[in-house]
Amino acid sequence: MTTVRTRIAPSPTGDPHVGTAYIALFNLCFARQHGGEFILRIEDTDQVRSTRESEQQIYDALRWLGIEWSEGPDVGGPHGPYRQSERGHIYQKYSAELVAKGHAFHCFCSAERLDQVRAEQMEAKQTPRYDGHCMHLPADEVQQRLAAGEPNVVRMKVPTEGVCVVPDMLRGEVEIPWDRMDMQVLMKTDGLPTYFLANVVDDHLMGITHVLRGEEWLPSAPKLILLYEYFGWEQPQLCYMPLLRNPDKSKLSKRKNPTSITFYERMGFLPQAMLNYLGRMGWSMPDEREKFSLAEMIEHFDIQRVSLGGPIFDLEKLSWLNGQWMRELSVEEFAAGAQQWAFNSDYMMKIAPHVQGRVETFSQIAPLASFFFAGGVNPDAKLFEHKKLAPDQVRQVMQLILWKLEALRQWEKDRITACIQAVVEHLQLKLRDAMPLMFAAITGQASSVSVLDAMEIIGPDLTRFRLRQAIELLGGVSKKENKEWEKLLASIV
Ligand code: GLU
Repeated sequence: MTTVRTRIAPSPTGDPHVGTAYIALFNLCFARQHGGEFILRIEDTDQVRSTRESEQQIYDALRWLGIEWSEGPDVGGPHGPYRQSERGHIYQKYSAELVAKGHAFHCFCSAERLDQVRAEQMEAKQTPRYDGHCMHLPADEVQQRLAAGEPNVVRMKVPTEGVCVVPDMLRGEVEIPWDRMDMQVLMKTDGLPTYFLANVVDDHLMGITHVLRGEEWLPSAPKLILLYEYFGWEQPQLCYMPLLRNPDKSKLSKRKNPTSITFYERMGFLPQAMLNYLGRMGWSMPDEREKFSLAEMIEHFDIQRVSLGGPIFDLEKLSWLNGQWMRELSVEEFAAGAQQWAFNSDYMMKIAPHVQGRVETFSQIAPLASFFFAGGVNPDAKLFEHKKLAPDQVRQVMQLILWKLEALRQWEKDRITACIQAVVEHLQLKLRDAMPLMFAAITGQASSVSVLDAMEIIGPDLTRFRLRQAIELLGGVSKKENKEWEKLLASIV
């Protein structure tokens, strides 16, 4: 019997997402329960958006939760390299094989031509898709143009009629019409593969037997299935996991819920509780108990117990569960956990330089600096009353700064300042107009240590969280404002 092998294949393009941990957890449980292996592959073919920092954060976040993999870029293994950016030659070979077999073709169409075709199709109320222009070019012309170094992509051929039957472990057979599929680009002009080719080739070469991935990928399943057929490879079993949702049922998004695992770590959640909560997303123990460990989840795991109604990721429920875990720690474990979290000398060394000059006794530290050890800070709305700015402008400045800080990847004081500066300059304001607002949002106080230093120290997750909370306190952002301000944001450099 073949060994069960599952994987998580994150793209390192931002903060480590709770959705990644959720899918990783189910893949891990599935593999372990069958005595199999769970591996990690980094899908970094998007060279512009992928970073090594984000990759490292994924490892750290998953490990913090207690999720371990037996093969991966950082631990090695027999099927490496496990980072797609290091597998370029492999995709080249398989792409060439598809072209040679007539399942894919070189496409030389310019971006302008594709835009024009798209515009015409939209005009005629058709689904925009590639029109097959380069599909039947004579072989010698293709060779000539390739030899001349003309930029091109490789596209896969897809049927135009009929349906593709996607066998899903949870839903049974899902039928998706072929005419919804475009002639997907498999290799880009830069010679790198797209998700579709790289994912199929790697899952095959890495011996993956079961693919548990997010439901958002279900609509594109036919393209993957067809690629397996083109190559003549055995299909892995497919399982499309329900998407995590905000309490209002919309897809989990950072606009409504913090989605970065590091946020939960900074908030002082216990990793065991967090993992337990993720395990309850659409799944339950046979005896319906709410509190269980990873080992217990693995022992009782049954994929068929996943229910398809969108699981809701709710901070309040998570907090309740965390409380259960907290209370069951021994006093020693509780104290050690708190110490490790923030009451440690590293964190103290970050704070000390900013409080030392402002106190006369050690006993004044806690009242002055308590916000360094808090999640939210519940500022008084009065602190946001502004001499110069109307309440709407106050919300606008804060929202624009929040968006700028959400996009900031290197969390350093100078860069944080530059974000705020860019916003105020664009609105023809001064830094000193915005700083009292930042101050109130971040510290919850009327005066304390320098807020820019405080933001750097508390980190991106808590800074963004507190800004979001302050904006909510002031009435939030309407849909109309959201649209207008996003436009404004686009013009701020
Ligand atoms: N790289 C994809 C992602 O980031 C992987 C999806 C899959 O599991 O196939 O979600």
